[in-house]
Amino acid sequence: MAIRNIRTMGDPILKKTCKEVKEMTPRLRQLVEDMFDTMYEANGVGLAAPQVGILKRIVVIDTTGEDPLVMVNPRILETDGQQTGGEGCLSVPGKTGTVTRPNYVRAAAYDANMQPYEIEATELLARAICHELDHLEGKLYVDMVEYGTLMDTDAYYADQEEEEQ
Ligand code: ZN
Repeated sequence: MAIRNIRTMGDPILKKTCKEVKEMTPRLRQLVEDMFDTMYEANGVGLAAPQVGILKRIVVIDTTGEDPLVMVNPRILETDGQQTGGEGCLSVPGKTGTVTRPNYVRAAAYDANMQPYEIEATELLARAICHELDHLEGKLYVDMVEYGTLMDTDAYYADQEEEEQ
């Protein structure tokens, strides 16, 4: 188990476009394992390679704690609907903001053995896929946040509760 250092907002590497993976190597396999370790350690639901300083098109996602998903060279094929809700990022620690995303996503990717697959996702998983794929283009969710909603996570959810009452 190896925990890698998570790059945070302001680090120029988070603004860069990542390169396609041509073949799975032992080094990249180790990267995928380390990305899962790093994500679970930080209680995240997704992590993209540039967040640990590697400019490769690899993301890992697990929205339930039991469904590890590796996406190599992922592409979104189709989106539908929309969802608006709180979103955070391990590279922007302690913050949450409101972002609108598609509610349904169909995506194609390769797994850790470079076998192609397709996945359909809704709700949180669809949001996570969109968020992580943005990292591969050097985009952070803070640039998509609804005006005035980016704040400390505790304050964000306290505000939401007030609105619901
Ligand atoms: Zn993120």
